[in-house]
Amino acid sequence: MQKRILITGGAGFLGSHLCERLLKDGHELLCVDNCFTGTKQNIIHLMTNPNFEFIRHDVTFPLYLEVDEIYNLACPASPVHYQHDPVQTTKTTVHGAINMLGLAKRIKAKILQASTSEVYGDPSIHPQPETYWGNVNPIGIRSCYDEGKRCAETLFFDYHRQHNLRIKVARIFNTYGPRMHPDDGRVVSNFIVQALKNIPLTVYGDGSQTRSFCYVDDLVEVLIRLMESPDTFIGPVNTGNPVEFTILELAQKVIDMTGSKSEIIFKPLPNDDPKQRKPDITLAKKELGWEPKIKLNEGLKKTVEYFDNLLKANRD
Ligand code: NAD
Ligand code: UDP
Ligand code: UDP
Repeated sequence: MQKRILITGGAGFLGSHLCERLLKDGHELLCVDNCFTGTKQNIIHLMTNPNFEFIRHDVTFPLYLEVDEIYNLACPASPVHYQHDPVQTTKTTVHGAINMLGLAKRIKAKILQASTSEVYGDPSIHPQPETYWGNVNPIGIRSCYDEGKRCAETLFFDYHRQHNLRIKVARIFNTYGPRMHPDDGRVVSNFIVQALKNIPLTVYGDGSQTRSFCYVDDLVEVLIRLMESPDTFIGPVNTGNPVEFTILELAQKVIDMTGSKSEIIFKPLPNDDPKQRKPDITLAKKELGWEPKIKLNEGLKKTVEYFDNLLKANRD
């Protein structure tokens, strides 16, 4: 059955892949974005599809539309970008959530929140299950994002309890793939772009910190499965790939894969940078029958190909 679906942050990295997939599934899409970190270039190939509409709008302001479902993804995800204007980041996470929840309440739409592994902060439990309450600095440089996203989860659960709203909360762990912004500042895009340009790969700290990387297609699949799951399953649910790597391992892998002449250099570790991160995905497996299929080598290859073409096109 065709649905009308709103995706906020739809011109961003994850949002553009979600738009593409939901259009392919035959739905009508409203893509809302203020183009802070996303670009029209990410969705240009969808513009001619009669089922697709782009609306330039900032979610910190009210929005009046009629849809069946809302995926709330609007928010810069890279530390470099969310720390650029931290007050705006908190407004986007909190005011944005209030507006989208108010919209969902008025039109009785189902709404999914793109939450994050950052709600666990610098975790003292490893791997992180959904039952862990986290270890978050409320006044640090990552707090605008971490606390903003925590507050958004609170709002989702209160709209659910108070107004019977149908909600879904996905805690997304590091996800990568084509259409990440080349200057986005996140580790996978940074390393690949540096390797392709044969300039040094910048490892922050000694590179012993860990992350677990999920390829974008696996993530899109689980978000859709979550949205389509029974109303009684609301999450929060961890969505990510549980295979863990050190940042130094990732750097070496990218150099090997690209055949780059780059060396690795070490830069200071930013404040509050989590030392380890790996999702416990038992809940997603049980409730959504989902687990990631794409291994890091395979996903990196596709991402390298994307950035290689992009850099070549920019040179021409
Ligand atoms: P992204 O920066 O590429 O996309 C975010 C999009 O939101 C951009 O298109 C941006 O222009 C838009 N946006 C920002 N502020 C807005 C505002 N006030 N109004 C309207 N649009 C606004 O990042 P992404 O990786 O695609 O992340 C999408 C969502 O998933 C974010 O909410 C992020 O917190 C969450 N998430 C992503 C990851 C990841 O690893 N990619 C991990 C955890 C959570
Ligand atoms: N809102 C919106 N679109 C709608 C309905 C509401 O953007 O279709 C916004 C509006 O700015 C409002 C917020 O959502 O302030 C929260 O709405 P809610 O009905 O929960 O609370 P209230 O209107 O009482 O503030
Ligand atoms: N990082 C790095 N070099 C870079 C960018 C990031 O070593 O050029 C590290 C960063 O300090 C962190 C990890 O890689 O430990 C993941 O960073 P990212 O910004 O991608 O996401 P995070 O998981 O920290 O939100």
